[in-house]
Amino acid sequence: MTSVRSMCILLLGYEVIPKTVSTRDRGGKFIMAEPILAYLIETDDGYVIFDTGVNSTNLTDPALRQSLFMDRGWLTPPIVLPDHEFLAQLELADVAPRDICHVVLSHVHCDHTGNIKHLRHAKFWIQKQEHDYAFSGSAGPAVFPQDYDFSELDWNIVDGDWELMSGIEGILTRGHHPGHQSLVVTLPGGTKILTADVGDLWENFEQEILPGESCDDIAALGSIRRLKAIAQQREAELILLHDPVRVQQIKLAPDRYR
Ligand SMILES: [Zn+2]
Repeated sequence: MTSVRSMCILLLGYEVIPKTVSTRDRGGKFIMAEPILAYLIETDDGYVIFDTGVNSTNLTDPALRQSLFMDRGWLTPPIVLPDHEFLAQLELADVAPRDICHVVLSHVHCDHTGNIKHLRHAKFWIQKQEHDYAFSGSAGPAVFPQDYDFSELDWNIVDGDWELMSGIEGILTRGHHPGHQSLVVTLPGGTKILTADVGDLWENFEQEILPGESCDDIAALGSIRRLKAIAQQREAELILLHDPVRVQQIKLAPDRYR
């Protein structure tokens, strides 16, 4: 039986956004700098990564920066310092791109699909509704098909809750996006729930506040409640992908959860 050995969390930059992007109708006066994380999971069968951060080429190339961010109404593009580049973070974790066999995507917003270009050899796992949306030709302005639409990618489509291998479960948590999913990872030392964008901030979970963007508000609230329920039932820790306070309390690369 395959099992999970460890998990290393990568800090891949920050996005500077109005707080209302994270909390619906709340905090309209405030701008937040929110971290962008990805999760490297070591298993007996190689590495799995959950999400891939933002493509820094889109930030450094002036024409791309203008057309993808400034022309689409961003306050400012995300910030990726040299230490937070995807390959630098992998090196810090002592992992090579080739060591990564599986890429699970929570959803196709640009802060989750940016480094697929380095992982084209891997198997990709995505929910059916998200894949349909990603290739519909009419995805929203924060979706960059050029970051994930590579002809050689091995897409594996799942529909609903599923298991990648023993200790790694995908949970369909739609709402923020049509086929958003979260991951439940059972490590030797305990279970972690990787929420992705079900709720950017702890406030979303604590007070059951909707994310700023959703395609289905009832489903989005249901997903917040479902992850809280799984956390309670399984005595699991919720690990948030964008919370600037919680990120300071978790282990980041090169430290690992075991
Ligand atoms: Zn995000």
